[in-house]
Amino acid sequence: MLIVKKFGGSSVADRERIFNVARRCVGDYKAGNDVVVVLSAMGDTTDDLLDLAKSINPDAPKREMDMLLTTGEQVSVALMAMAFATMGIPAISLNAFQVAMHTTSTYSNARLKRIDSERIRHELDARKIVIVTGFQGINKYDDYTTLGRGGSDTTAVALAAALHADACEIYTDVEGVYTADPRKVPDARKLSEITYDEMLEFATLGAQVLHNRSVEMAKKYGVQLVVRSSLSDAEGTIVKEETNVEKMLISGVAADKNATRISLVGLKDEPGVAFKLFNLLAKNNINVDVILQSIGRDGTKDISFTVDRDVAKDAVRLLEANQARLTFQKISFKENVAKVSIVGAGMATNPGVAAKMFEALYNVGINIKMISTSEIRISVLIEEEEVDAAVRAIHDAFQLGK
Ligand code: ADP
Ligand code: ASP
Ligand code: MG
Repeated sequence: MLIVKKFGGSSVADRERIFNVARRCVGDYKAGNDVVVVLSAMGDTTDDLLDLAKSINPDAPKREMDMLLTTGEQVSVALMAMAFATMGIPAISLNAFQVAMHTTSTYSNARLKRIDSERIRHELDARKIVIVTGFQGINKYDDYTTLGRGGSDTTAVALAAALHADACEIYTDVEGVYTADPRKVPDARKLSEITYDEMLEFATLGAQVLHNRSVEMAKKYGVQLVVRSSLSDAEGTIVKEETNVEKMLISGVAADKNATRISLVGLKDEPGVAFKLFNLLAKNNINVDVILQSIGRDGTKDISFTVDRDVAKDAVRLLEANQARLTFQKISFKENVAKVSIVGAGMATNPGVAAKMFEALYNVGINIKMISTSEIRISVLIEEEEVDAAVRAIHDAFQLGK
């Protein structure tokens, strides 16, 4: 068997944890399997590097940012190879260059395009454990790129797909995917299985346990994932196309604090206005999330929408520069908002799910600012400080802990 095992930052946070990971890999190796290990940067390294960069230049060039951040993963893989060496196990660390992990050019948010598997195959054939840096790639200029926060999951899935691995295991600091963040909701329940589609919504809506692109890629290439703890032997959560368990109405609640609401007031109420607005944002690579259009004063209309917090200022600047063409009178933005969502394949055929969610929020006095829905999710925008209470209230109302 060929097994890809990915360990997140907290799983390799110190010397002891590094040896713990090494021991967990040696078992599979000694049983005769080919083992590829994907690692994130140790502990809070990536955050620390970001802070360090900020102290030098708050608006650092993105290329240099990726040059800096990719060092974190390189530390982890080298130390892990050293740990294996102390155990007498043949192993080799490889970075994105050495593997040749090609990505798009976009620094800080690159997408994997192609992975050469030759070098890895060669090392596996020599019966080595191959340890690969997560989160990083190289672009057509031979520069380092990164895949976005949490991107090591995507590295692991991409390698599993490229190597036609028999298993792809994502080890983290919780025992699997839960009905809500187990650190915020103590009675959250671990799911034994979840479909790619539900997990993709869940990850996109803020359940950071898996990088959303990793789920997208797993679905595309049919890579079955297991999410489990690096510190216990508890069975994890299987992420796959179809689950055997009965379709649950709601599989979980997710929260995303990374939102900013932008409001445009007094737009002309005529065809093409929304098109011009969102087309401009799209052309500038600004993703828009929840959208609300309402009737304004004197025959005008208002449009509000949310964007990721780190692009909000760019978005506002862009819109201001195009004020006349977009026909709005006033623009404002609000940062301390957050999105809370419920996800579940069963809700498409069950009326009353939205009402129940809104009732749960009403019961704890939380006001909803915006609403958006799809077949398998409902999201609301609320004040950021009310997020934890909202998640718990909804989790209780749907009895997800039972
Ligand atoms: P890693 O460093 O291993 O990649 P992450 O911090 O990226 O770990 O993801 C694991 C974290 O995701 C957990 O510690 C947990 O707090 C958080 N999390 C959020 N939502 C969920 C959920 N529904 N199920 C499990 N974990 C979740
Ligand atoms: N080290 C990177 C981050 O903190 C990648 C990852 O953890 O997956 O975002
Ligand atoms: Mg992660």
